[in-house]
Amino acid sequence: MSEKELRRKEIKAAGDLKRVMSDYYYRMDRISRGEEEGKIAWCSSVGPAELLRAFGFEVYYPENHGATLGATRTAMDYIPLANAIGYSPEICSYLTSDVGSYLKGETPLSRLYPGIESVPKPDLLAYNTNQCRDVQEWFEFYGREFDVPVVGINSPRALVEVRDIDIANVVGQLKAMIPTLEEVSGQKFDIDGFKESLRLSRRCSELWGELLGLAKHLPSPWTFFDGTIHMGPAVCLRGTQEAIDYYELLKRELKERIESGVAAVDGERFRLYWEGMPIWGKLRDLSEQFSELRACVVVSTYCNSWIFSAFDEKNPFESMAQAYTEIFINRAERVKEEYIERMVREYQVDGIIFHDSRTCPNNSNARYSMPQRLEKRLGLPCLVIDADLNDLRCYSEEQTRTNIEALIEQLEEIRG
Ligand code: SF4
Repeated sequence: MSEKELRRKEIKAAGDLKRVMSDYYYRMDRISRGEEEGKIAWCSSVGPAELLRAFGFEVYYPENHGATLGATRTAMDYIPLANAIGYSPEICSYLTSDVGSYLKGETPLSRLYPGIESVPKPDLLAYNTNQCRDVQEWFEFYGREFDVPVVGINSPRALVEVRDIDIANVVGQLKAMIPTLEEVSGQKFDIDGFKESLRLSRRCSELWGELLGLAKHLPSPWTFFDGTIHMGPAVCLRGTQEAIDYYELLKRELKERIESGVAAVDGERFRLYWEGMPIWGKLRDLSEQFSELRACVVVSTYCNSWIFSAFDEKNPFESMAQAYTEIFINRAERVKEEYIERMVREYQVDGIIFHDSRTCPNNSNARYSMPQRLEKRLGLPCLVIDADLNDLRCYSEEQTRTNIEALIEQLEEIRG
């Protein structure tokens, strides 16, 4: 066995994860082909999924497809096609790679799930601009292509505080969606169904938070890179029992690792925070490099973004508005810094990596001097990596590797 194989520890539950995700995609494929009853709603990743599920929609996430295009390194084949119809190379590369793959009539899902020829067709699209405006433009494109309704929440942005007036605003917009959802789904709104999907989503979210929190243990039983793979159910299947069952299973395995002293990174020496988007096409390489350097990326803004602590089925509309408005990406710099500072302390972090993702300014926090401020305040080194979530033409292998090595040398020096 090579040294790399010894260091990279596969999570056994990954087999179950594959089954859960393939059931989800094949179910949508059957609905889309008319072989099974149902309707499909496309939703932005932090959009109103629980409300859609309350109307019986199966929920598909174009961003998850975008991440698949990135992870399979096929995004660059498709981005130019979207550029050619006027979508700038500077905007979200999830959007451009996804639109490009649609224009080409191809999807990596066909390779991952044999028999699936295309992404499922939408009956309706629902977005929330709490993360960015790109999702609105992205969904409007498909609304025109498929000639189906597009509903959305235009959230108040970059908030220092989430005020009552902000919640009332979002609640009003959620309620205004209901007539369209009733019409497309053919179902009347049922408050109990909504409460139930919110209850399931809250449980999923609690479990996901608990699982990520296990990385506080020294040494950590898993890494940010594992998290990006295992977050599939928290994104795509929140509001369902399947997601809960899967995370219970994963929890047992990670707890066993802790009990038997199994570290995700052998000889864990340094603990890091990953700020910003993953670099989907480089997850494996980066994970191996950090392992070789005996550094474990234990916490990230990205994976933590699917912990929605505010969900409360007793107060469904208000708590949902709160949960989706207070997310990290939708907050002012000051609030983001306080959050990172808290995570650094809780996870005993030695250094922070900021991924400045070229086409996602919304989820890149290195552009207004945050690394410099945090470095000064926390007294730990921050490294900024210039790259992109999907477009590997913005990624320099050599420069990134060298910069990461330099960060670890710096940490060695600090430790003396
Ligand atoms: S937050 Fe960034 S990656 Fe996500 S949809 Fe918006 S621009 Fe794209």
